[in-house]
Amino acid sequence: MKRMIAVVLALALLLGGVRGVTAMEMEQVTSDTLYVRQVEGMGEDFILGADVSSLLAEEASGVVYRDFAGQPQDMLKVLADNGVNYVRVRVWVDPFDKDGRGYGGGSYTAATAAEIGARAAKYGLKLLVDFHYSDFWADPSKQMVPKAWAGLSVQAKAERIKAYTAESLQLIRDAGADVGMVQIGNETNNGICGESYFDDMAVLYQAGAQAVRDFDPEILIVIHYSEPSLGHADVAEDLVHSGVDYDVFATSYYPFWHGTLEDLRESLVAVAERTGKRVMVAETQWIYTDADGDGSGNSAGPGSGYESIYPFTVQGQSREIRDVAATVASVDKGIGVFYWEAGWIPVPGEDWVERSAKWERFGSGWAASYAGEYDPNDAGRYYGGSACDNMALFDFAGNPLESLKTFALLRTGNYVPPVADALDAVSVTLGVGESVALPDTVPVVFTDGSQDQREVVWNDDEIQAVSTKTPGKFVVHGRAEGFEALCYVDVAENNYLINGSFEEEDRSMWTITAIASGDQADFQVKSADAYSGEVSLHFWNGAAVEWRCEQTVTDLPDGAWRVSVKGQGGDVGNDADIHLYVISDGQTYTAPMILRGWADWQEAVLEHIPCASGTLTVGVYVRCQGGGWGTFDDFLLNPEK
Ligand code: CA
Repeated sequence: MKRMIAVVLALALLLGGVRGVTAMEMEQVTSDTLYVRQVEGMGEDFILGADVSSLLAEEASGVVYRDFAGQPQDMLKVLADNGVNYVRVRVWVDPFDKDGRGYGGGSYTAATAAEIGARAAKYGLKLLVDFHYSDFWADPSKQMVPKAWAGLSVQAKAERIKAYTAESLQLIRDAGADVGMVQIGNETNNGICGESYFDDMAVLYQAGAQAVRDFDPEILIVIHYSEPSLGHADVAEDLVHSGVDYDVFATSYYPFWHGTLEDLRESLVAVAERTGKRVMVAETQWIYTDADGDGSGNSAGPGSGYESIYPFTVQGQSREIRDVAATVASVDKGIGVFYWEAGWIPVPGEDWVERSAKWERFGSGWAASYAGEYDPNDAGRYYGGSACDNMALFDFAGNPLESLKTFALLRTGNYVPPVADALDAVSVTLGVGESVALPDTVPVVFTDGSQDQREVVWNDDEIQAVSTKTPGKFVVHGRAEGFEALCYVDVAENNYLINGSFEEEDRSMWTITAIASGDQADFQVKSADAYSGEVSLHFWNGAAVEWRCEQTVTDLPDGAWRVSVKGQGGDVGNDADIHLYVISDGQTYTAPMILRGWADWQEAVLEHIPCASGTLTVGVYVRCQGGGWGTFDDFLLNPEK
């Protein structure tokens, strides 16, 4: 019987009986304040989606969403009325402990996706079902197998995935949802369903994909990775070669973590050109306020420096949505964008205790304590509320933000006279011992994204608190144009050596001299073996080595100097001689470097080095037995105060 209903519904879909509200039919959305640059060439079918996974848990916790008239309204209708045409819902297999208590994050199963999807369909919103194939969050850091599937072989897991996907889709469609896309896994860069070998992953992807194809060939099958990368094209191609039948390669794109719009575009273009697959952004979001609404820390916010990408304002959020949509639309095969968690706002409550009780009971926080049994190291420790209430499209009280209108205004643009929107943060790097000087002006950012300089008044007490005696970081606030100004002050160690950490590609100022024969030392690019950055001075040889590496600096002011270097390594033998040295005014000064093992960084220091000539040579010397190894990093040369 259920099958009959599905067939009838599928027929109705084919005949165009159920379809989204088009831009023409939608009541005209207008804004007196929002500046939206038109996205040219964005088709009517371009997906402007929102992830609404937290909706039911939020409602159960007492959250009320409102429309622009201030009236309580179904959040899904408010989204649809403002240009959103698709929703996305995450689905977990069994996000409950043995007593039936939810893990949180909505504790979503196929049944909840069915409920949200059916409601969304009433407003013409299509549904993207986001199968994690896990009992809780799946992302690049974890892809845990569902409890009930633990210990199964890859083939057995594939069977389970196929059956589970088919049953879930049937349930979701029977409820009345308009399923347009299905994700086979979530941010599966490093694995899926507990498997991390690519060949095994391909078997699981194909199991899910096959279930979707068999269920309805019209549904688009989506593979989803995090963080745009040129490597996505390799993966997308490998999937094809491995026989994975899919339609869309999607990426997450969080501008505060994932590089520039150009990086995003290059990644999407590479996938599209090499595979012909459609591409989209499955998750993106931006910060509209530096406030935290529920006392549960947010994943991105104040003090981060991210405000230089877009201001932490409603207009900044709108610009981010517009720019990501425009970037995807500029790619031939770009089909759309989903905003992540449009409505995950604070649950009502006098204080943290009251809110926390709701997160635990209704799963309206990112994790409940009950998730600890399944995910002890993350959810089990840090369970709490919404980590993105400062990035939702509704304010803390449930009122829609003006930025929500962006979706409806993208195709036409909305050109109101630009006004000042925020100040861009500025940053200053000072050397140890330098006097504190901050800029007289700061950039004001206008609603159209343009900038101009304005005079700023800094907080005197905060300037006084900046100490340059030792390295450190400070934030100084100020006022300009009626906005709060921010200056990040970084007091850094000066370095009279050039490229002391080897990160710059030109390392010609360093001279490596081999005293023994054969390979002695080189510059190695490997962050695990570097003290800072990713490049270090490295040695290893099966035979005994003897070498030095040094740099000579000239025109130094008269005075006493301090030199230091970091080192790690081992197996150098009892007769090894490894030391830091300085040659100044014809004298050589040395300090031994003892290597104590991998990643156990030691420091060699030379102090009170006089230098009258203004010329000084700094280096390391290594003589050790075969099999000895190590790296040196972060040479520092500074005058003593
Ligand atoms: Ca929060």
